[in-house]
Amino acid sequence: MAIPDSSRYVVVGAGIHGLSTALHLAEALEARGQGGGKDVLVIDKGGIAAGASGIACGVVRNNYFQPAMRELMAHSVAVWESDPKAFSYHPVGYMQISPEVMREDVASIYRQQQDIGYESVFIEGAKESALYMKGLYDDWQAKGITSVLHEKKGGYANNTAAIYGLANKAEARGVRILTGVTVTGFEFGHNSEAVAAVETDRGRIACDQLVIGTGPWVRDFWDMLELPKTITVKGRDGAEHHDVPMWRYWQLEEGVLGVEPGYLTTNDGAMPPVMHVDTDAPLYSDVDGALITDRLWGIYYKPDFHFNGVQGGASPYEVTTPVDAVAIDPYGPASPEFVSSPDFAHMWCSALAHCHKRFEGKLGLYKKEPSGGIGCFTPDSFPVFDRFRENAYVIADSNHGYKMIGVGKLVAEEMLGATPALLKPFRFARYAEGDLHPVSHSPFPWS
Ligand SMILES: Cc1cc2nc3c(=O)[nH]c(=O)nc-3n(C[C@H](O)[C@H](O)[C@H](O)COP(=O)(O)OP(=O)(O)OC[C@H]3O[C@@H](n4cnc5c(N)ncnc54)[C@H](O)[C@@H]3O)c2cc1C
Repeated sequence: MAIPDSSRYVVVGAGIHGLSTALHLAEALEARGQGGGKDVLVIDKGGIAAGASGIACGVVRNNYFQPAMRELMAHSVAVWESDPKAFSYHPVGYMQISPEVMREDVASIYRQQQDIGYESVFIEGAKESALYMKGLYDDWQAKGITSVLHEKKGGYANNTAAIYGLANKAEARGVRILTGVTVTGFEFGHNSEAVAAVETDRGRIACDQLVIGTGPWVRDFWDMLELPKTITVKGRDGAEHHDVPMWRYWQLEEGVLGVEPGYLTTNDGAMPPVMHVDTDAPLYSDVDGALITDRLWGIYYKPDFHFNGVQGGASPYEVTTPVDAVAIDPYGPASPEFVSSPDFAHMWCSALAHCHKRFEGKLGLYKKEPSGGIGCFTPDSFPVFDRFRENAYVIADSNHGYKMIGVGKLVAEEMLGATPALLKPFRFARYAEGDLHPVSHSPFPWS
């Protein structure tokens, strides 16, 4: 197929952000009588959902300690809810089950959810939490739990199905999606900083506006835009930290227990909320009783017919390879380097057994195929949504982003002249200005 030599809007990346932006740009252009999908071109070096969006666990939650993240997630949940069928979205809810050290953080999340009208229930106290959990699961046995936040909204979406749903909607509006086309660089304007054209292995495509939604590959696009590899971050204490690397990689540890997905239903036989359990109770091996950890640990899990089992993960680990040497390709389960480790399987299955009696002795059912993948994180582990070089919009979600289906809608509005308040806390300038997001006690870098 011939590639066009120009497009008003070029979007790089056919993942959640690129496709959501393309769809919403098409809709907004049409609504304003300023064009439509034919003005939007999406290019991807692989295929639709070839990146992180295609391997994500697919959890959609509001549970964030940072007010700006929570408001943004509430907006995205509304987009998921706008067409659950097309987005393969399961609104089963979400639970954050926590130890005492996290109680106050989660209580403040609950209070602020009430303020923004996001429906949730908060249970406090060890006895009360156990009672609430046993009301859901007879075999609940996790230790060290003193609070339960039960979000009635949110849930999960089937990873690739949702992305194909977005692609279908975008194509129905006239958006063109070109796969198998690799961006190799940018041509900058003669009299401006702007990107005049996108260079690809199939030729040059001139553009008025560019959107970069390239997930873990954002490091390479940042370099192509000639943006700084290190930055200065003004800390919350007012001190300036120089030469902070702009990007870091973490390995997401996920896997599947090969039981019938219906093996994890609630007492009344319903599909359960997505479960996230953090605790500081010691974790012992479900195989030989040896101590795995006596530090704060956490897991998440859900029954999932797409993965055909109970799927979930645990805390990621930081990739120590120097950032420029991290091999992103081949990505995800195809990577020879960045897949979930056998240690993960042992820890995660033991943790499942710590939480539910039904999972005791089930490690042998863990699916041994490769899973997981790397994510690219910003200096404070929160997203950067901003315009660079006048016309290049970078969506760098710091690996928070499958759930953020609404970000593309906001980016589309911004590209057409609006200034969405929900995106303001995610500007790049916050690092220099010290306008950082608050940090929680969670063991995960994304909470
Ligand atoms: C194992 C795992 C589990 C996760 N689970 C969750 C979860 O449960 N909930 C959640 O909210 N988030 C989750 N995430 C994070 C989430 O998946 C990502 O934040 C999100 O999918 C990123 O979307 P994206 O559109 O920016 O990028 P991607 O989906 O990675 O898409 C980027 C695209 O860019 C293309 N591309 C790259 N380089 C080029 C080039 N040179 N030329 C052309 N195209 C190029 C790639 O082929 C790819 O298709 C998870 C991540 C991982 C790795």
